[in-house]
Amino acid sequence: MTVLSRRTALGAGLALALGSRQGRAEAPAKVRSYAATHGHAPFETAHLLPGDPLDLARVDRNAAATRVIALTIDDGPDANDHRILDILRTNGAKATFFEIGRKIVEHPEITKAVIRSGNEVGNHSLDHVMMSDVPPAEQARNLSETNRLLDRLGAAPAWFRPPFGDFDDGVAALARANGLRSVVWTLDTKDWKGLDAAAIAGRVTANLRPGTIVLMHSTKTPTVEALPTILAEGQRQGYRFVTMTEWYAAMKAASVPGTM
Ligand SMILES: [Zn+2]
Repeated sequence: MTVLSRRTALGAGLALALGSRQGRAEAPAKVRSYAATHGHAPFETAHLLPGDPLDLARVDRNAAATRVIALTIDDGPDANDHRILDILRTNGAKATFFEIGRKIVEHPEITKAVIRSGNEVGNHSLDHVMMSDVPPAEQARNLSETNRLLDRLGAAPAWFRPPFGDFDDGVAALARANGLRSVVWTLDTKDWKGLDAAAIAGRVTANLRPGTIVLMHSTKTPTVEALPTILAEGQRQGYRFVTMTEWYAAMKAASVPGTM
């Protein structure tokens, strides 16, 4: 599998839309993080929460506290966000919006509306780059500049979603140095592949488990259309839809101490 095809598998359409330089694809194939190569991550700290002290292997997923789902909505701020906020509010649900710094500069009023809504806003880099492809100084700038933009609007970001799920140890450490926990996802809606709303809703509602983290994009209108079904069916299954910070607290509360 070439680097280019991995990028394609992870939404090159978006990369192209954002002007990322596909010319780097001639670089020799390198080992990517699990999420970047397969589009989803298992419920294990190394893959899902790179570099985090919380050991997900110790989480008792039979505990009632873990009946939570974290919807993560990437690539905004976007005009669709207003509708998404309405749907979340109507259904008593919360989510986390991972925003791109360059787009915050263009649409600060949308970011402010998301912050005011009580949903969580996280850092999704400044330029939506493959973080492990760029030098440390550029990685640092992608993290700190986006934090600065969010801080200025009152968000106090606590989470980083690496674009394309691409991270390495250095990226995770740099995120921590910027006060951010890194998180990937366990359930990819594949909305970036052009699925329709029914297919997205079906894919998500058939695969909800305690602690599922769903990857979706506010730039995809079928995702917005699928959201009411996802929330209603998820709640019927006994799940609460929470922010990443609430998700983390729930997993911590259900952690079993000692050896396993
Ligand atoms: Zn993204």
